[in-house]
Amino acid sequence: MTRATRAVIDLAALQHNLQTVRSAAPGVGVMAIVKANGYGHGLARIAHALAQAPGGCEAFGVACLDEALALREAGLRQPVVLLEGYTTPGDIETIRRHRLQTVVHHETQLDMLERAGAGEPVPVWLKIDTGMHRLGFAPEAAAGAHARLAACPAVADPIRLMSHLANADDRGDARTQAQIDLLERLASTLGGARSLANSAGLLGWPAAHGDWVRPGIMLYGVSPFGDADAPALGLRPVMTLHSELIAVNRYRRGDAIGYGGTWVCPEDMPVGVVGIGYGDGYPRHAPSGTPVLVNGRRVDLVGRVSMDMICVDLRSQPRARVGDPVVLWGEGLPVETVAERAATIGYELLCGVTQRVNLVVGGASGAADDGAARRSSLR
Ligand SMILES: *Cc1c(COP(=O)(O)O)cnc(C)c1O
Repeated sequence: MTRATRAVIDLAALQHNLQTVRSAAPGVGVMAIVKANGYGHGLARIAHALAQAPGGCEAFGVACLDEALALREAGLRQPVVLLEGYTTPGDIETIRRHRLQTVVHHETQLDMLERAGAGEPVPVWLKIDTGMHRLGFAPEAAAGAHARLAACPAVADPIRLMSHLANADDRGDARTQAQIDLLERLASTLGGARSLANSAGLLGWPAAHGDWVRPGIMLYGVSPFGDADAPALGLRPVMTLHSELIAVNRYRRGDAIGYGGTWVCPEDMPVGVVGIGYGDGYPRHAPSGTPVLVNGRRVDLVGRVSMDMICVDLRSQPRARVGDPVVLWGEGLPVETVAERAATIGYELLCGVTQRVNLVVGGASGAADDGAARRSSLR
């Protein structure tokens, strides 16, 4: 029997979210960001589902060469962009061989391109630092870097421009408009397609759309904003993390639950044990009170998260039994809610699901105990 602890991946929700991208940013290229194993959802499966969606996507964005090669090995032939570029001269040969595109963000990368031998010209995105202050050429160095790329035989025509927004998740932050204006100003002299918007830029800053948008988190059905939840943005969760009750025990008033005894029963009560823990990627920092769905209804996490287990307060479900379905996040419980309790962001929780958790394709209607969960929530 397969372990009840599993992440069910709803590819119809993913394709729906891609449609939300299309309607929010009509007429621009979509570079679907699938780095970090498709934000923890399984790279190949996610990329194929995006490619097969109505309209598909025009390109994929990944962080590193290994991720790009995994896409090629999975048979995906779309343009793939290396968002951090490359680190060795040999990488340039690999880029050519697999017909990848690359960001060039640093002097050292320019030098390597200039020293690369003759061969297939490489499509390049010149990364400009418009205010994020992480990767990219300073605005005053952009024209010089652009001229060197234009003169380099290893570089394909035309050169495209990329920058990254630092504060787009705050819709009132003036620094985002300043970044948009700066990239527009540079693009008006340098020419070429431009790309600036991540999910928050795409949904919150239409002026940032440029020629290519780069949605990541929204494709997976998670809101990039603190002040708007995913359904309000037309997004559906792609991952639902499931487990089950592996024990239901009764404890006495005053009994302390789990490591460190950080939570004490205020009365005689049932406590459920769920077969998931930080060894699966459930955040250890989730405090008592973090919501968990048992039989589709919210109960509180109690005590510390262990490697393989968590405990839940079952006072509201005295009839809960071993084997009852549990949802940690996804359908019915946004990952954003759990992340906020654990003082992190949904991105980290999704990427942090470990190898021990089977990723299985299913959907809101496909997963058997999803249905059971919904039925019992109606009782
Ligand atoms: C990860 C990443 C994105 C996607 O960001 P989301 O907030 O997940 O939409 C876009 N662009 C670059 C350069 C990235 O590294």
